[in-house]
Amino acid sequence: MFFDNKLHTSYADKLPEVFYSDMEPNPVNEPKLIKWNQALAEQLSIKGEGILDVLAGNSFPAASKPIAQAYAGHQFGNFTMLGDGRATLVGEWQNASGEKLDIQLKGAGRTPYSRGGDGRAALGPMLREYIISEAMHGLGIPTTRSLAVVSTGDPVYRETALPGAVLTRIAKSHIRVGTFEYARRFCSETDLIALADYSIARHYPELADESDRYLRFFQAVVNRQASLLAQWVSVGFIHGVMNTDNMTISGETIDYGPCAFLDEYDPKTVFSSIDVQGRYAYANQPPIAAWNLARFAETLLPLIDDVPEEAVKKAEAILKEYPRMYRKYWLEIMSRKIGIQEAAAGDEALVEDLLMWMEQTGADYTNTFRALTIDDLATIDQDEDFLSWKKRWDKRTSAMQTETVRQTMQKANPNVIPRNYLVEEVLDAAGNGDYTLFDSLLEAVSNPYSYAPVNPKYTANPPEPDEPFQTFCGT
Ligand code: AMP
Ligand code: MG
Ligand code: MG
Repeated sequence: MFFDNKLHTSYADKLPEVFYSDMEPNPVNEPKLIKWNQALAEQLSIKGEGILDVLAGNSFPAASKPIAQAYAGHQFGNFTMLGDGRATLVGEWQNASGEKLDIQLKGAGRTPYSRGGDGRAALGPMLREYIISEAMHGLGIPTTRSLAVVSTGDPVYRETALPGAVLTRIAKSHIRVGTFEYARRFCSETDLIALADYSIARHYPELADESDRYLRFFQAVVNRQASLLAQWVSVGFIHGVMNTDNMTISGETIDYGPCAFLDEYDPKTVFSSIDVQGRYAYANQPPIAAWNLARFAETLLPLIDDVPEEAVKKAEAILKEYPRMYRKYWLEIMSRKIGIQEAAAGDEALVEDLLMWMEQTGADYTNTFRALTIDDLATIDQDEDFLSWKKRWDKRTSAMQTETVRQTMQKANPNVIPRNYLVEEVLDAAGNGDYTLFDSLLEAVSNPYSYAPVNPKYTANPPEPDEPFQTFCGT
């Protein structure tokens, strides 16, 4: 089979057995290819022919060593043992630049970490992950990708019987903060060192020979997460379940369960039905990332310094830098959203004041920036506050080339995002066997900065919902 000659599982080769369990196929009845990401396949030189059985988890290539990974994590603040309960890593695919990418099947059946779960996934949520992760990639935000969705022909039982599916997810790796928590809590220090060295070699190879590599590794992960969080916030993305097991060491966005995008700008927005306290509310995400990174730091302390107090001091010094790092990334991106390539004194206030106006008037986040980008203010409530902000902005940008400002904004402000009601609509149609709406929205959200004409519905303000939009996980 085509997969054979290029699949490895360095994770299993390099790490002690406590970190994974070997997997056998969990066959499904009637696999059918529902979605295939041809652009991604081509980019990775993966050929689609003859691999349906692999994408369904019905058989594995002879050369692959499929595994489920062990991990733990803090879920809504509470530590617990987890692991891949419904995912199987088929193997790692080497891309053209020699980088290893995990090929993982989500919904491929029970594993030793399934606890009470069935190890399966429903078609709707897998299609949702497919379109939203591809939208994030289109937005230029580091993320796991979606290669394929296969329907299984078997029902999964949730509140009702739903069609089952398997999503093929491509990731730089699936090593999480929770993998380190698992190592620190349940494994030996030798195991922990093996995990850290493996992660450094795979994601931060430039640090491998440094004598203080574990501290620098921590700093590098903090840096990538600060950048990632600024990018999420800049597009109005709400992850929804920022548990430590859903935070990657690579800095990619992972685990598209209850995530959703803001419509009206309200920093307190929560979509997830189970996030009753608002722990993972839109504006709480950057500090929650810091909380998760503190849990990560705790796992590395014995490697950072032999003297515990010294280790704590060094890790704390880096954590203390996180808000400043985050703010720097945030300001860079947000300045570009108003056409400013290099933020100067006063620009932070200019951005903040626009956001405050949006919050006070309930303006649509994406469409406010879009309207400014294309200079079509007809949809904007041009009240006194807006006009006085606009005057300040015009003054700030008056010395710049109009075309340069426009181009800067166009690259920073999406024309289209996967709006909640649009995503619901296309998933409903897909559930009835009609994929035309799904494909059309997928195409648009995959090219969000193109500003080529799209279905006007995609760029309109969303209709006022009858009741607040809610998302659900665990399906
Ligand atoms: P998540 O909320 O997707 O981050 O998942 C949290 C944990 O629950 C992970 O350990 C998953 O592997 C596990 N899990 C989620 N759904 C299932 C399922 N249907 N069967 C078994 N385990 C699951
Ligand atoms: Mg091994
Ligand atoms: Mg998860």
